[in-house]
Amino acid sequence: MLENLTVITPIKETKSLMPWFEQMRWLLKNWVIIDSGGGENLEPLCTRYIKADTPFYEARKIGYAHATTHYIMNLDAFTIVPEEYVTQALTLLNNGDADCCAIDYLPSLGHYGFGTSIWRTDVLNKLYDYMPRLLQDKAVDSKGEIHTIKMSFCECSYMWNTLVTSKHKFVPLFYKAKNNGDPRHGR
Ligand SMILES: [Zn+2]
Repeated sequence: MLENLTVITPIKETKSLMPWFEQMRWLLKNWVIIDSGGGENLEPLCTRYIKADTPFYEARKIGYAHATTHYIMNLDAFTIVPEEYVTQALTLLNNGDADCCAIDYLPSLGHYGFGTSIWRTDVLNKLYDYMPRLLQDKAVDSKGEIHTIKMSFCECSYMWNTLVTSKHKFVPLFYKAKNNGDPRHGR
């Protein structure tokens, strides 16, 4: 099944990635790295290594364009996912029961993580247009006065909203990912 999956990993790290690679190498059959620094040791270990000092969302897009498989998985550096998650997600995608699957982390992000998500390649390439942005929102207080509230948006929430409003099938699963660093969600 893993031959149908390309794993995309943007990297900008200072800690050694080798212990993480050893834990996840079972998954990394088709592995595209977009390296803004720190991923040099992984070059001989991945399928496609792209050196590009670029924001995370641009790195993802560069990676997606290099996927030739039916399915894409976002796997951010230091994220560890259970094998059962990948197997179940690929089965759902293959059967047409999902367009995207994702799981939360332990400890919880409070939502499902984009950095764990597995997608139909065509759907992800069509929908992914995230850019970090501060949204200005208006709120009315109890005295009827209008205030501007600044809200930061996370990539995960943004993409789940995009997915659901475009009538695609999002199937979150109950497995948990771990991240020994700091799970990225849209900074
Ligand atoms: Zn998030």
